[in-house]
Amino acid sequence: MIEMDCTCVQKHHAIPTEAVEISFGALEKAPEHLRGYHRIFLVADENTYAVAGKRVEALLRERGMLSHVFVLPAGALPTAENVGKVLIEAGRDADPYDINAFSLNPDYLLAVGSGSVNDTCRMVSYRLGIPYGIVGTAPSMDGYASVVAPLLNGRRKIVYTCTIARHILIDLEVNAAAPYPLLLSGVGDMIGKYVAILDWENSRDRTGEYYCEKIAGMVLSATDKCISASEALEKRDPDAVRSVSEGLILSGEGIAFCGSSRPASGTEHMIGQTWEVMDVEEGKVPNLHGIEVGEATFAAMEIFRRLHGETQDASLRALIEKYLPAFDRVEALQRKLKIPFTVTDRGRFVEGILRGRTFRERYTVLQYLYEKGKLKEYAEAVYAPVMEKYCFGTFRERFPDWEKGI
Ligand SMILES: [Zn+2]
Ligand SMILES: [Zn+2]
Repeated sequence: MIEMDCTCVQKHHAIPTEAVEISFGALEKAPEHLRGYHRIFLVADENTYAVAGKRVEALLRERGMLSHVFVLPAGALPTAENVGKVLIEAGRDADPYDINAFSLNPDYLLAVGSGSVNDTCRMVSYRLGIPYGIVGTAPSMDGYASVVAPLLNGRRKIVYTCTIARHILIDLEVNAAAPYPLLLSGVGDMIGKYVAILDWENSRDRTGEYYCEKIAGMVLSATDKCISASEALEKRDPDAVRSVSEGLILSGEGIAFCGSSRPASGTEHMIGQTWEVMDVEEGKVPNLHGIEVGEATFAAMEIFRRLHGETQDASLRALIEKYLPAFDRVEALQRKLKIPFTVTDRGRFVEGILRGRTFRERYTVLQYLYEKGKLKEYAEAVYAPVMEKYCFGTFRERFPDWEKGI
């Protein structure tokens, strides 16, 4: 259990996660953290099995803690079909000749992977009613401590409420060796937090929404740390990878403490996820989550900067002003990292902003502008500055060999 006392109306925040381990050699500690479980079902995909799953399998088998292993194809997406496959395999027994073992289900589900394997397993563990844990293989998104699983179901992306991981193990050696697009995706997911918290504060002021200063502060300081460390990411500096990993987990904990993704998801996620959904609707495989969110963060920052220059509302202007230095830091980081763009078409860019307003029920600056009759004007106006200031090439150009995947 991770908990903290608070001054907000909730007074106390707690999540059922028992351990978060971010270290070199975290893999080796898996049996120690998972002691007490004897029928662990390990799920990975071909890539994550090779970099971490195999080792964890051996460690658990040695100690008699493993039930069995299921490996999905490389780059498997969190689809309803894959959830079904894992669910079917979950009950398979390690020893078909032992009639006593025949009907036993696993007592623990261990997901080895980051985004996709994690989301798939979170749903299966929830449906089976067994605890689950994560061995992260890339700091690519902030869903480690998440309570929801966004799954692809037909041509829709549906967010299901599930359960929170009991253990989160991040081996820095494995994570530092992760494919570079995944590292960039992690940073893309983190840089959006300033916009998310600004939206949250604005909603508190305008709609009276619940706001927790301590959670917001926790997410903001994790973001600050992540931004200053990220410059060294390309060199795969272990401290940079550690800061990004810690930041992503802390922001996930903020979500879990809050009981909703409010502290980590505002305008930038509404726009980025709309672009993802537009791909899904067209039958395409969506791009990396954090890459879309990164680009959408630049759009959101430009919307806020424009609003700061135009608004007559002194309190709103003062609120935005508080975040402008952070926006400048994000812009400077982007000049170094050059997180690639996935949406460069003007129509698609604008559509993402317009449809993003209603992506979910959440008050953001998009709703504020809509109510003022200015959303379309803003969506169109920020396109040119976003492309000019932040776009240094597309994802396809930069990573031509990358297989699309979440
Ligand atoms: Zn609080
Ligand atoms: Zn995210």
